[in-house]
Amino acid sequence: MSLFTSIHVDCPACNHTNTMDAVGSVNADRRPDLRDDIIADVFQTIPCAECAESFRLQPEFNYLDVENGLWILALGVTSLADHLIHEDRARDLFDISYGSNAAPAAQEVGEVLRCRVTFGWPAVREKILARTEGLDDVVLEMMKLNLLRRLPEAPIGFGVELRLMAAAGDMFELAWVMTKSEEVQSIIRISRDAYDGIAENRADWAEVEALLTDGPFCDIQKLFLGPGREASQAAE
Ligand SMILES: [Zn+2]
Repeated sequence: MSLFTSIHVDCPACNHTNTMDAVGSVNADRRPDLRDDIIADVFQTIPCAECAESFRLQPEFNYLDVENGLWILALGVTSLADHLIHEDRARDLFDISYGSNAAPAAQEVGEVLRCRVTFGWPAVREKILARTEGLDDVVLEMMKLNLLRRLPEAPIGFGVELRLMAAAGDMFELAWVMTKSEEVQSIIRISRDAYDGIAENRADWAEVEALLTDGPFCDIQKLFLGPGREASQAAE
């Protein structure tokens, strides 16, 4: 079931208090229109009733998409700093809903689902887009890392992220996106071969894959966010 709650939000432009339906949960199998809205980058965006300036709520919802084998805890960018905490939250929530702590029928559904946590709209959009295009998000992240190694001037760091924007035929379109404003800085077009090459030589990437999949936050961002799970566990 998709769930919405009516909330009051102040317009960032004129401060007028608007009422909107904030999403708590998306069931994309029953509401594929919501999946389309996320990919079209219009979900949870409303025009202000007073000044017509449009604004968007940060994501804060569960996303279920059995057709595409995906379950996501979609959070806002401000939660990125505490990504390890939110990874644990996502895993616990998934376990109760579709994992080892769920009812047998739900566990059966859970077998086809990948559990993920994302921060910000570009990240959740990318996860859904990748699955609808038949792409493996782990391979996609490794492809990005490979690309970064070849681009010494790449602006990777806190505050900017590399996202798949479109996959058309043999070409992928990626963009450097500002994390906070979601503004696109520049576009990179690469051949799909870059992805296939990693998929075919996956074993060479075993070490990186282990890092990317040590929790539901499967994103190269985690490699640039300071000590990861292993280091934080060693310090305990
Ligand atoms: Zn306004």
